[in-house]
Amino acid sequence: MFASVIVDIPSKSVNQVFDYRIPNGMEDLIKVGHRVLVPFGPRTIQGYVMSIDDKTDFDPARIKEIARTLDIEPVLTKEMITIAMYLADYYVDQYISVIETILPAALKANYKKVLRLGESPSMAARNAFAKVSGETEIEVKRLDPSVIKTLAPYLKSGDIHEETIITQHTKKKMALAVHSLNEQAIDLSRAKKQQELYDVINASSEPIFIRNLVNDGFSNALINALHKKGLIAKVEIEMERDPYSDRVFTIDPPKVLNPEQQHAYSRITSSMDAEEAKTFLLHGITGSGKTEVYLQIIQKALDEGKTAIMLVPEIALTPQMVNRFKRRFGDDVAVLHSGLSSGEKYDEWRKIKENRARVSVGARSSIFAPFQNIGVIIVDEEHETTYKQGDRPMYHATEVAKFRSTYHNCPLILGTATPSLETFARSERGVYERLELTTRAGTKVLPEIRVVDMSEEHRTGNTSIISGTLEAGIRERIGKGEQTVLLLNRRGYSNFQICQSCGHVPMCPNCDISLTYHKSNRSLMCHYCGYESAVHKTCDNCQSDEVTFRGTGTEKVEEILRDMFDTDVVRMDNDTTRRKGMHEKLLDHFEQEEIPILLGTQMIAKGLDYPKVTLVGVLNADTMLNLPDFRANEKTYQLLTQVSGRAGRHELSGEVIFQTYNPTHYAIQLAKESDYRTFYEKEMAFRRLARYSPYYFHVLFTISSEDIRKCLKATTHIHDTLVQEVSDQSIIVGPSPSPLERINRQYRFQIMLKYKREPELLKMLNALDEHYHEAYKTEGISLRIDVDPLVI
Ligand code: ADP
Ligand code: ZN
Ligand code: ZN
Repeated sequence: MFASVIVDIPSKSVNQVFDYRIPNGMEDLIKVGHRVLVPFGPRTIQGYVMSIDDKTDFDPARIKEIARTLDIEPVLTKEMITIAMYLADYYVDQYISVIETILPAALKANYKKVLRLGESPSMAARNAFAKVSGETEIEVKRLDPSVIKTLAPYLKSGDIHEETIITQHTKKKMALAVHSLNEQAIDLSRAKKQQELYDVINASSEPIFIRNLVNDGFSNALINALHKKGLIAKVEIEMERDPYSDRVFTIDPPKVLNPEQQHAYSRITSSMDAEEAKTFLLHGITGSGKTEVYLQIIQKALDEGKTAIMLVPEIALTPQMVNRFKRRFGDDVAVLHSGLSSGEKYDEWRKIKENRARVSVGARSSIFAPFQNIGVIIVDEEHETTYKQGDRPMYHATEVAKFRSTYHNCPLILGTATPSLETFARSERGVYERLELTTRAGTKVLPEIRVVDMSEEHRTGNTSIISGTLEAGIRERIGKGEQTVLLLNRRGYSNFQICQSCGHVPMCPNCDISLTYHKSNRSLMCHYCGYESAVHKTCDNCQSDEVTFRGTGTEKVEEILRDMFDTDVVRMDNDTTRRKGMHEKLLDHFEQEEIPILLGTQMIAKGLDYPKVTLVGVLNADTMLNLPDFRANEKTYQLLTQVSGRAGRHELSGEVIFQTYNPTHYAIQLAKESDYRTFYEKEMAFRRLARYSPYYFHVLFTISSEDIRKCLKATTHIHDTLVQEVSDQSIIVGPSPSPLERINRQYRFQIMLKYKREPELLKMLNALDEHYHEAYKTEGISLRIDVDPLVI
């Protein structure tokens, strides 16, 4: 028998599988989807079995044997193998990179360079080796360069070898537990506490973790005393990591659906009954009860013995959201997000794989949750651009969701208040069935929205970033003990430093962008590459001391607000939430301490649901409008609508204020009127005229290199290839410098291809990718091919 194996060599440019012989007697132990170790050149590396056959196209005499298998059950299902092949092809990437995206990182191979003594080493080599370590192997990474120097002669002479070995990441968390050795009751009446402990241990049918006993007030000394008497035994067993183990969830029963919710529910569940792979757009305004509909549909799937996947954007995966699921489905829920450690992720993954959890709630990559028999897939906030991975493989989770919906014959629900134009257009054409929720659930109404013209504000003498209207609104809320949420999509203190004498602006030495001033650590920072430099009091260019700062970020606004209202402010941006768990901590603080103001970047726009928030202010509604991206209007409309949805979600009614320099812009006006349909029509007219998505598909090529001439040469080559290969109906835009011409010392150029039909496109793209994969190593030119790009 022969196994076709994808090997773990990311530098390999071709998507080649290699055939290996399955050793005699191992036929039943090696299955499709297993991880195996195989010889590859002089090394042993990890691979994944894609298929098994009794013949091979290669010369059987020259085929090597699989060294061993790492799994008892396959880690990849047939479904996942097909998905990997499909995604690698569609998004122009390598199988191995997709496979390693599908699987939890804990299953990846971990290669370690070690030194070992050769067959018959000289005495001197033996001594030198022993001096460094008493072990039989030494990890190179841990060695001081000076030590390596002393060993170098023996490495040369062959007395000591360098080898690469593989260690597994798959670490189960083990912990000591105890169990009793004697079923009978024992009389320890002279040692009361020991008796109490023994009774607890004896009463349990399973071993009890020592740490739990200690938590319950039994000391280690006490446990050891019983152990010494031979009454209990210690064993090491696996302890599952559950990030939610310390919380108690009270059950939340389903609500009676209103007529619109009921209609959506029955359309989707009857599609589920019919086992159709149908896609629904659930278009419901914020607070219309979409989540309640999801919960009840998931319940129906569970009742039928099926499983369910729900995707939410990372930042909407708040404790509130997790609570709602845990309160409905208890331990049946696995939660997957980037805040989990690799071990926690692995444990959640196994919970799903071993059918101990039947629902998953998670961010983008949880679309790969290894469920069988899926009953429904939900993509909440489907318009969110974070569903597309920014690095390779640049897959879109909804694309994977569609694939899985077809594979499992189950409905796919795309839910949102502000559909992406692509999705809404498909619902117009009947490709997706659209279901509308037009009112807020219960009695609540949408908040009233006001637009404040900031140019007018400046003309009448107020140059502050807070308009008179907004200031009055915030004061009123503080007076009433209510809360305000303020959005400013710009972190840092000031945008940039400028010399008033010569106009010099300090720039990042690696990127084509000015440095942002951060007051808290008195530094100038690059938001692209992380470069940081101290602030100089005088101009670097002319030594004048007339340097000043322009533009306003969250850090500065926090200061302004504290001064203006003499009150506490919670600020949430990348700077204040960098540490793990801070996001959650700040929100808890805001809610529980009833802090009057929450100020943040767009990370506050989603998912928050606090009863006392009655005012939402957008400090600069134009930030997104001015981005060099054809989706700028769409993103502005979406963000304004989402953040408005945070106001007045409960008994108290809400108000929203948009501050803008473009008060008549349709994205702002129509967001104010919550008129998605008109926005859609206007935006579609523009897209048609400018020949953009959804009228055309796009592929974005970004070519980068430290050497600008090489960069230009490669750009020309790609442009020429496109001109030659694509049809006359397709449009090639560029080449042009990328919006940010230089990042991390790399010059960047881009070309955009717009097309309606290009049957041979994927083949051409994969060939280009292969070519530049090699070029990257030899010439330092890299090509990034972004299929269906979301960020231009
Ligand atoms: P969305 O997901 O559309 O933003 P939610 O499902 O979060 O809306 O619902 C908003 C609020 O209304 C929640 O507090 C929810 O519990 C409540 N709600 C939803 N559906 C109903 C219903 N049928 N009856 C009463 N309250 C409801
Ligand atoms: Zn100057
Ligand atoms: Zn930089």
